[in-house]
Amino acid sequence: APVLDGLPQQPADPLLALIGMFRADPRPDKIDLGVGVFRDDGGATPVLDAVKHAEELLLARQDSKSYLGADGDRGFVALLEPIVFGADAANPLRTGVQTPGGTGALRLGMDLLARARPDMAIWIGEPSWANHVPTAAAAQLTVRRHRFFDQVSQRLEIDAMLAGLAQARPGDALLLHGCGHNPSGATVHAADWLRIAAFVRERGLIPFVDLAYQGLAHGLEEDAAGLRILLEAAPEALVAYSCDKNFGMYRDRVGALWVQATDGDALARARSNMLSLARTFWSMPPDHGAAVVRLVLSDPLLRASWEAELAGMRDRIAGLRRAVAATEPRLAALAEQTGMFSLLPVSAAAVTALREEHGIYMAGDARINVAGLRLEDVPRFVAAVGRWLG
Ligand code: PMP
Repeated sequence: APVLDGLPQQPADPLLALIGMFRADPRPDKIDLGVGVFRDDGGATPVLDAVKHAEELLLARQDSKSYLGADGDRGFVALLEPIVFGADAANPLRTGVQTPGGTGALRLGMDLLARARPDMAIWIGEPSWANHVPTAAAAQLTVRRHRFFDQVSQRLEIDAMLAGLAQARPGDALLLHGCGHNPSGATVHAADWLRIAAFVRERGLIPFVDLAYQGLAHGLEEDAAGLRILLEAAPEALVAYSCDKNFGMYRDRVGALWVQATDGDALARARSNMLSLARTFWSMPPDHGAAVVRLVLSDPLLRASWEAELAGMRDRIAGLRRAVAATEPRLAALAEQTGMFSLLPVSAAAVTALREEHGIYMAGDARINVAGLRLEDVPRFVAAVGRWLG
């Protein structure tokens, strides 16, 4: 039999299937709350002005496309560090490399952990981003789950989370969303971060923070607060970062992975493993997006323009959240949540009915991309969802 006959059919990505269904729907007033990209009030996902300008500069100035190296654009990584780590940016016990998006950073970090301690478990909250568990499994890590958010009550479940994590062994990894939790939008407040950090330290867990939406939840500084608390508490930690949302560069695949170690020798060995793993995954990360982010961050005017555009995206999402909550008190939790996503407290049957009867498209678990709403859609959206709320 042909070799490739050994391959089992894999299920189609449900979100991509949803895009197809949405396109095929002839209703003019259909609403797409599926795929997680920012949209403006006209439904577009535009290239940011700061990014367009930096791309023009890059086109004019770039004098070579020769190889850079497995760690990518070092200037890009260095310029991100103050944004991510604040006053602790120059910590010599931390090292970072550019990666193809946040996904590349997650995969690289998980393989690094698996190489360091093959029998460790990585703890992932329920619910979490749909790609977290498959990525950990692809890196051959054992995946364990803990509670995180209750869809019906719309509450963060820190007590249940820590109760579940009581089973973790020292040296296990704990994956945490830095801000704007996907899919729940649940906000982790400073008091919660402090509890989690104290637990992590006491139990000897290694936090792996996934920061994919910095600046889209509360603000650039605010959205890094949890990460900074964790990194101060834990001697060893990993951070996977994405610029794909906060710079609107999705398809350019812009990200970074940092590792924090207990001493310089361990850090140097960790970095050498990050580079050798990267060589076998993608050899070198794609340059364009990281070079553009470097140009934006190194030019004061472009940087100010980016921060203003980022604030505009964040304010639009927060405004939509307030509008939904003000129209329907049973959805009040949406105004407390942050970032692009919320997980509506409705059943799978409701998700199907909303699609078939109202042309409102969302993921099967009732996750919505809040930015997919136009302000004028809010009353119709809320009226349709309201029927299904408890
Ligand atoms: N982490 C989370 C929580 C995400 O939601 C996403 C993107 N949906 C990523 C990481 C990966 O982002 P990227 O497109 O940069 O790979």
